[in-house]
Amino acid sequence: MEDSYIKQNLNGILKTVWQSASNAGRSAHDIRIVAITKTAPSEVLPLLLDAGISDAGENRWQVARDKFEHPDASRLTWHFVGSLQTNKVKYIVPRFDWVHSVDSIELADALSHGAVKFERNLQILLQVNVAEEPQKHGFNAESCAEAVRRIQALPGLSLRGLMTMAPIVDRAEDARPVFRQLRSLLEGIRDDFSLEAFDQLSMGMSDDFAIAIEEGATMIRLGRSLVNPPTSGEEA
Ligand SMILES: *Cc1c(COP(=O)(O)O)cnc(C)c1O
Repeated sequence: MEDSYIKQNLNGILKTVWQSASNAGRSAHDIRIVAITKTAPSEVLPLLLDAGISDAGENRWQVARDKFEHPDASRLTWHFVGSLQTNKVKYIVPRFDWVHSVDSIELADALSHGAVKFERNLQILLQVNVAEEPQKHGFNAESCAEAVRRIQALPGLSLRGLMTMAPIVDRAEDARPVFRQLRSLLEGIRDDFSLEAFDQLSMGMSDDFAIAIEEGATMIRLGRSLVNPPTSGEEA
């Protein structure tokens, strides 16, 4: 049988993951691929599982909700990666295992309340707007440490690390300083607060994941390059 388009996409992606990990003297096994399924129908879920991917992510509840009707949804670990209003927390907490986009103490509070109520434990990452772009959500380097201080002891939450979205650049190489800063922020906070499990860096998307891995990404969030079928006429 011919490989699914997901497997074909993944083959190319894995070559880059291995190469970038090797460039950085890292093991490719330490890098988790989170398939961002927002542009794909729910039929993509069994194809992801079949290709060996067990992590999926969405950035809006309105788009995510249909995916959970699919019988295979419960076989995946789910990551919420988009901006989240506190009134949507009640939908997210029962279904998602990770929230990468905690961008305020109020949101962390709401997630904590939800987690306690639904008897869940949520893995959370703080979103950092490293480049301080006005249109982007997230803490900056200074407010991040203060947020960690306030959030680390909230019940129902495990504070696991940091997430960023790099600025859109012409050359992926230009995003490198942003990834490097996120990693140094993570290491600084981990040492200052003695947080042993604060070890996750969610950074790198379809256009820049190779650079993110070289700079220490432990989770890469891949949308288009992984879940979109190759369009005819375009090189696969
Ligand atoms: C859509 C999205 C991605 C995936 O983007 P691609 O460039 O398609 O790989 C990653 N992270 C977040 C927060 C997203 O919204």
